[in-house]
Amino acid sequence: MRVRHKPWAKGKLDRHSDIVVQSPRDCNGEWHDEFHREAPLHVEIGSGKGRFITGMAKKYPNNNFVGIELHESIIVTALDRCLDEEIENVRLINEDARGLTEFFAEDEVDALYLNFCDPWPKNRHEKRRLTYSTFLAQYEYVLKKGGILHFKTDNQALFEYSLESFSKYGFTLQNISLDLHHARVKDNVVTEYEEKFSEKGQRIYRCEAISSE
Ligand code: SAH
Repeated sequence: MRVRHKPWAKGKLDRHSDIVVQSPRDCNGEWHDEFHREAPLHVEIGSGKGRFITGMAKKYPNNNFVGIELHESIIVTALDRCLDEEIENVRLINEDARGLTEFFAEDEVDALYLNFCDPWPKNRHEKRRLTYSTFLAQYEYVLKKGGILHFKTDNQALFEYSLESFSKYGFTLQNISLDLHHARVKDNVVTEYEEKFSEKGQRIYRCEAISSE
């Protein structure tokens, strides 16, 4: 996602530590304390400007949502959405998702969302793809047994790679769609990238991968 550098973003994120969690490692195993309630925990990786996570939070007020986004100039827009819409069941982490198993305890997460992550098309960059086996190991660790990883992309090559990667790793696949917007799917919350790509007529691929351990 190409975004103008916002030098003021860091200060704004720091000022809203009630939403942007400053020490996510301290919440490990205790996210319900951060939300002041016990509720299913749903986590989005690479949440961008937050359209999806805020949409999900409004649609499912009984769940707790955490969005992880690397870039402060991007996540600050997600913060604005939470503030403008007075959303109380979202927390944001401005860090690299590689820290996932430091932020969340084993079996702490009920569902994970991975939307339109970078395809890293070159073979030599395979390890950077967020569906590479080292990431899947982290997803499996934090997800409860039977927990679902929800994956969407516009990139056919990444989708095919990811299906193979999930299944090699031992995830069970379900609800595979090769053209999400032309399938009769209810309850799809659209992301920023999804809107952009589907407006251009590109297909959206979707699948769910279930953790067995
Ligand atoms: N999910 C959003 C944005 C997709 S672009 C949407 O569908 O519209 C991918 C996003 O993931 C970018 O905002 C990028 O900064 C973020 N990202 C990429 N690698 C990441 C990582 N390792 N940890 C956290 N965020 C990451």
